[in-house]
Amino acid sequence: MVKGENMALAQRGENMALAQIGGVPVLILKEGTTRKTGKEAINLNIMIAKAVAEAVKSTLGPKGMDKMLIDSLGDITISNDGATILDEMDVQHPIAKLMVEISKAQDDEVGDGTTSTVIIAGELLKEAEKLLDKNIHPTIILSGYKKALEVAKEVLKKRAIKVDIEDDETLRKVAATAMRGKSVAAVRDYLADLTVKAVKQVAEKRGDKITVDLDYIQLIKKKGGAVRDSKLVYGVIVDKEVVHPDMPKRVENAKIALIDAPLEVEKTEIDAEIRISDPEQMRAFLQEEENLLKEMVDRIREAGANVVFCQKGIDDMAQYFLAKAGILAVRRVKKSDMEKLARATGARIVTKVEDLTPEALGSAELVEERKIADEKMVFVEGCPNPRAVSILIRGGLEKAVDEAERSLIDALSVVADVLEDPYILPGGGAPEAEIAKELRKYAPQVGGREQLAIEAYANAVESIPRTLAENSGLDPIDILAELRSVHEREDGWKYGVEVFEGKVADMLEKGVVEPLVVKEQALKSATEAAALILRIDDVIAASKLETKEEEGKKEEEEEKTEFD
Ligand code: ADP
Ligand code: MG
Repeated sequence: MVKGENMALAQRGENMALAQIGGVPVLILKEGTTRKTGKEAINLNIMIAKAVAEAVKSTLGPKGMDKMLIDSLGDITISNDGATILDEMDVQHPIAKLMVEISKAQDDEVGDGTTSTVIIAGELLKEAEKLLDKNIHPTIILSGYKKALEVAKEVLKKRAIKVDIEDDETLRKVAATAMRGKSVAAVRDYLADLTVKAVKQVAEKRGDKITVDLDYIQLIKKKGGAVRDSKLVYGVIVDKEVVHPDMPKRVENAKIALIDAPLEVEKTEIDAEIRISDPEQMRAFLQEEENLLKEMVDRIREAGANVVFCQKGIDDMAQYFLAKAGILAVRRVKKSDMEKLARATGARIVTKVEDLTPEALGSAELVEERKIADEKMVFVEGCPNPRAVSILIRGGLEKAVDEAERSLIDALSVVADVLEDPYILPGGGAPEAEIAKELRKYAPQVGGREQLAIEAYANAVESIPRTLAENSGLDPIDILAELRSVHEREDGWKYGVEVFEGKVADMLEKGVVEPLVVKEQALKSATEAAALILRIDDVIAASKLETKEEEGKKEEEEEKTEFD
């Protein structure tokens, strides 16, 4: 490129990034790259983060509204769940994506509090924007936020209430609080009870720590019936049918074999050619195959199994022999289901039929094929002390079943959180109000510009009770004023916004309680996200990739001009 061209490009301004070497401008970025720096970059990023927070704000709390999302294929999701909504929104801007990431991280980490996290992150940035306008440097804001977070964590620890993990009543309250309002309101207590039973069943004690792997709680959705027809199965539901019509459909006192091998005669890998010259040979050949299959089935029968779950296929002939032996068999069972079956029934998965011994078998009171909403499924029930359980979720509409499932997932997560770390806090924005109060006391001790940042943090955290009030049609200004004055009292820390009665109330008394870890994690993730975004003061974006073809053509052209 000639110098003149470069100058012309330089005049195009922001689109090109230039550096000066000895008075000659040098291109350092590819053509088409856009760049925003300093305040402009920060302001834009904050605007986007705020927009994302704004999008989920109206869903917070049991009185929050639902959102209907329609994807490009026309599939509809109706939800109240922050992480779900953001995920479905399919946002494009990298900062928006980052906000979605923090909600996902919160979800993975503790399974609840996603909306709160995003709202607080958005508010922290909104407050930061005001401070930036007062010419306070991002570094000062960040160090103030960091100090505020430490104080906030202390406040949470101080107010956390230790839970006796045998206290199912409290665990049910934790579950009920996490279950979103309207869609499951009528059956919340019922589902809370299922939740606590399910989580306790799979919880494992290691030393004096309890760990819960929620993968061992299988959720099976089937449209039809009512949500109240949802039920907990002390065992596993396998979404497959019994393989042969002549097999029993119901086996009591089941002795279960789990086989991860095909019940078929292995076909050779290489194309072997077998020349058969007379019918007798043919018969012998088939007989040989039949014998092999019969031997396999005999082996299963001799081990004492009356139920077989096979991860691979089962040959027709083998099916026939199994049916004749009165054995119920299911084929092509998913690997994850096999693992759950092993945990629930105590069976060992064998990879060779020869390895099947009576000790390898598992047991269940009942294995039965049932028809649920026109589909056949095999229920393995009444397992002795199962370490894997299933919840069958029912509901009139598919959307209702989906939302019930999401509610259950949140509830299962929070109960697991409390078993693993047995501390809870009152909900309804009570801890947030308490944090705000403590921060406002603490800020003057720090003084200077950081004081402003700490006060900003207090305002941001207070967005939780404020939003809860807004979402239930209350006047946020009145409610916050009342909440602040109540929190000055000795027992004030328990008070939050009770959205059903529409007033400031003792949330412990109302049974609205949440795990400590959810609150802690929400503040940590929100602060981290805000810090990450505030630290960016230069956004350099490459031009959008065009379709490959166009790109190719362009490159060709460019090459040509160079050679010209
Ligand atoms: P998140 O994704 O942050 O968990 P939710 O929509 O589940 O968002 O709302 C959680 C908030 O709702 C928490 O602050 C919780 O304390 C509050 N909450 C739950 N039940 C009640 C209630 N009955 N009254 C007031 N607040 C409640
Ligand atoms: Mg929640």
